[in-house]
Amino acid sequence: MNVVNIKDLSPKELEDFIINLGEKPYRAVQLAKWVYKRRVTSFDEMTDLPNGLRAGLGVVAKISYLKPPLERVSSDGTKKYVFELFDGNRIESVLIPENGRATLCVSTQVGCALDCTFCLTGRIGRIRNLDPSEILDQYIGVNNLNNQSITNIVFMGMGEPLDNLESTVKALKTFTNPDFIGFSPKKITVSTSGIVPKIKELGEQISVNLSVSLNAARDDLRDEIMPINKRYPIKELIEESARFPIPKRKTLTFEYVLIENVNDSDEDARRLGELLMGVKCKVNLIPFNEADPLPYKSPAEERVFGFQKALISYGINVRIRKNRGRDILGACGQLAADYPFKNIKPSKFSGKLK
Ligand code: SF4
Repeated sequence: MNVVNIKDLSPKELEDFIINLGEKPYRAVQLAKWVYKRRVTSFDEMTDLPNGLRAGLGVVAKISYLKPPLERVSSDGTKKYVFELFDGNRIESVLIPENGRATLCVSTQVGCALDCTFCLTGRIGRIRNLDPSEILDQYIGVNNLNNQSITNIVFMGMGEPLDNLESTVKALKTFTNPDFIGFSPKKITVSTSGIVPKIKELGEQISVNLSVSLNAARDDLRDEIMPINKRYPIKELIEESARFPIPKRKTLTFEYVLIENVNDSDEDARRLGELLMGVKCKVNLIPFNEADPLPYKSPAEERVFGFQKALISYGINVRIRKNRGRDILGACGQLAADYPFKNIKPSKFSGKLK
């Protein structure tokens, strides 16, 4: 018999599942409260469900959970969690406390197929997609270990969320449903490297914040450092992103990792300014997080400020993002779930960009 994992079902699927068992739809909400708010892992503990339903659920369904993760704490308070999955694969989540908020960065895949040359996860390659339950269990697992409540969730960990769209959407629906986890969509951000048709598909299914990892203002450069650009070039990506249904009073974000002597010149800033002029957006500049064996360096602080200044002159709202968790390899682009280096492919970067 096919045993259903409750956390792999979207709210609508859970309701249908309960109805198919001959129960009233409100039983799905009761069950979800036990699973996501009280975080129990057995049907026997669900004391407001009838005995018959509890016994039946025990036969046809299960509630998955991840083993408590390994925790590493950075000197800046950032915490990295390494979770071991049922098949022995490992994924990472990062909790970033800042200004009264606690942002959880979740993974959506083991590794990543997109091969961005500045990213350690990309060096592993894609091993497999995560199930919705494995995305949700990162939130539950980190919550169980921390007194501070998680206030924001970003889908920016290992993997490209839109390369695992089905699990990403199901997890988002569970996160945002008030009867399930109940996060405001305004507090959730999905980050993408730019799979253009999937941006459209995501927007047709849910409205959350969107953050697009741009990192270059010329197609030849972006083709080199983010190969997905060969299929979906910059202009097409910006146009599709600008149509995405962001929640009210929120703004589309473009992320730009600044890499010394690759994409950090004033000329790059001017091109970026011209591309984004008139687009309702903000830009986050992220000085590259150096990590072996990646062949790049972070620009000097003056260069970062110079780039910001050049971009601001185009009327664009630009922030410099602080590097958090660098000492525990928990910063942006550094997540590789402690995979041994023998699994890491050499970068394809040709070094001919300048
Ligand atoms: S930056 Fe994102 S999309 Fe690119 S390889 Fe890394 S995880 Fe994948």
